[in-house]
Amino acid sequence: MTGNTDAETEDQLQEAILAWARKYAASRDWIVNPNEKQLGAVVKGLARNTIRFDEQYCPCRMRTGDLEKDREIICPCIYHEDEVRNDGYCHCRLFFGNEE
Ligand code: SF4
Repeated sequence: MTGNTDAETEDQLQEAILAWARKYAASRDWIVNPNEKQLGAVVKGLARNTIRFDEQYCPCRMRTGDLEKDREIICPCIYHEDEVRNDGYCHCRLFFGNEE
């Protein structure tokens, strides 16, 4: 066992989540947060929740502990389309509508 295994796994997971988020955003004609620091923080939160809970729970919302209810906040959550439409970005600021 090396002490780096978990960190490497988390890094790889973050890369995978970021690649997924970019692809998902592009498919909706959106973009991911152009602020790299904010983007990295959300992706890190998603990766940590995935490792801890085995689901990509939103890092900006409270889990209830009720698995059925918490499905609503697996990213992309049930709220994100309305948020992007109404506010220009989702609650976590992962996805931004493309203004152009
Ligand atoms: S608010 Fe954004 S980051 Fe959080 S689950 Fe919804 S879509 Fe994902």
